[in-house]
Amino acid sequence: MLAWISWLSLVLVFVSWTGCGSYTPSRPSALNGAPVVATTGLVADLAKRISGGVVEVEAIMGPGVDPHLYQAKAADRRKLEEARLVLYNGLHLEGTMSELLQNLPQARAVADGIAKDQLLYAKGQPDPHVWFDVRLWIQALGAVEKAMAEAFPQHAEAFRKNAAEYRTELQALDEEIRRDIAAIPPRRRVLVTAHDAFGYFGRAYSIEVIGLQGISTADETGLKEMQQIVERVIRDRIPAIFAETSVPMDGVQAVVERCRARGHAVRIAHAKLYSDALDRPDKVEGTYPGMMRHNVRVIVEALGSDATSSRRP
Ligand SMILES: [Zn+2]
Repeated sequence: MLAWISWLSLVLVFVSWTGCGSYTPSRPSALNGAPVVATTGLVADLAKRISGGVVEVEAIMGPGVDPHLYQAKAADRRKLEEARLVLYNGLHLEGTMSELLQNLPQARAVADGIAKDQLLYAKGQPDPHVWFDVRLWIQALGAVEKAMAEAFPQHAEAFRKNAAEYRTELQALDEEIRRDIAAIPPRRRVLVTAHDAFGYFGRAYSIEVIGLQGISTADETGLKEMQQIVERVIRDRIPAIFAETSVPMDGVQAVVERCRARGHAVRIAHAKLYSDALDRPDKVEGTYPGMMRHNVRVIVEALGSDATSSRRP
């Protein structure tokens, strides 16, 4: 019997190894993805907290992945098509996947739960980074709760309870961030980052935000814009600027070099900010509250301490 199984698997391996052109064997759906598939880790975080382990939730994009540029792989498409519920951010965060997502009948954009008059726009496009205002993300939580209750009505009551708990936790987080950012001296409350992901953060927590790239990492930084940012950093003696985990370092490094060449020793904050991707699920920064706290800590440490001043005599 054992020998027969070995022989059979050898034949199967040989068949798949030799390949059959573009033919892809269909696998049982149980092997592909979870019943709830989210695009980003941020959206998955909402669904996981609402699920409380009742239904499995999976994110397609892992740590450090840039959702603006991410291209869906064949395996992703299978997972998305087979899922009972697909959750995505929307507002064109998932740039290249937008059409695919809009054509899936079981897909819901969490940004649809956010009041339209609270969205920010840049060059006529809505800014998709809504999670950086915790109050807006609480509205997105409501949208995910509704979508999950519709997809799994038998668990609606458990979802309602879990969502209420998370809402309370996020309300406290919002207050905490407000307090922490307010502790930075107003003159230094300027956040220069790799791309313009922090517009909602700036509006919600009263910190000026300057992004090297636009609201999508597909945008280019113009030389003129780069020069304006350099002038600003030098003029206001901004002590630190910020790199992001899902964006290459080139832009922020260029600002640092240009400022240093002119005698202002601006530095890159000691840790990168999480902008569009969470960390690994086993880390604190793999959760939404954990990554928000990390960012706030890095910002306060880099801008808030008098010891970082590079003022010349
Ligand atoms: Zn972004």
